[in-house]
Amino acid sequence: MARIQLDQIEKRFGDTPVLKGVSLDIQDGEFVTLVGPSGCGKSTLLRILSGLEAADSGRVVIDDRDVTGVRPADRNLAMVFQSYALYPHLTVAENMMTPLRMRDLTPVQRMPVVGPLIARGPHRDMRKQASDVAETLKITALMDRKPGQLSGGQRQRVALGRAMVRKPLAFLMDEPLSNLDAALRVHMRAELSELHRRLKATFVYVTHDQAEALTMSDRMAVMMHGDILQVGAPDEIYLDPNTLEVARFIGSPA
Ligand code: ADP
Ligand code: MG
Repeated sequence: MARIQLDQIEKRFGDTPVLKGVSLDIQDGEFVTLVGPSGCGKSTLLRILSGLEAADSGRVVIDDRDVTGVRPADRNLAMVFQSYALYPHLTVAENMMTPLRMRDLTPVQRMPVVGPLIARGPHRDMRKQASDVAETLKITALMDRKPGQLSGGQRQRVALGRAMVRKPLAFLMDEPLSNLDAALRVHMRAELSELHRRLKATFVYVTHDQAEALTMSDRMAVMMHGDILQVGAPDEIYLDPNTLEVARFIGSPA
């Protein structure tokens, strides 16, 4: 998949600096978490990576291609949101096939609710691709259901499936498990880790939950107040935090 470089990203909202020159180099196939307390700038950084937000300065480079000014649809990254953002009136199969049509659509057709109705129509290749992904995620039996008939974990899997169908360069996830109850969250952590191992895909995963970051990451970037304070493997950061702030946040032994 892709190597991702964030180079000196700065962002202000009004007078408030939210990202203060953040740099991070993510290797091809790596599972990297951006972890830190609420409000430290994680989501903003991920949105800048995905192109949903523009940085004031700095560069985003994907596989040696500078995509700083490139619109989200042309970056070929899959964003999996906190809210599942599935179309409630479409089946799982239809939900999974919508992203494939996106690039060929007009702005009106891209609109939620209205768009999929206009864009609907049989397409055998899409169905095949969607059913291959469904098999990988073990959701084949759910393909004809509507999102309302699914559990939280199943919905999460469908949202992930929809992202996978597009064969993106990387998966970007912003607190994807935060709507799930505690037991299911732990279960889904293991599932995502297993999926990462199987896909060998690049994952950039945002969470405020240090336990999640410690258990899932190849490397974690600990963020505070718009800066990355430390980047490293979970055991490295846990055992050798570089500041008191990092130690406190991670819950390192005193
Ligand atoms: P996190 O995801 O780590 O909780 P965010 O990236 O969402 O943090 O937000 C970082 C800071 O930027 C917060 O103080 C937040 O209030 C502020 N912020 C985020 N988005 C906007 C926006 N669109 N307009 C103004 N302030 C924003
Ligand atoms: Mg956030």
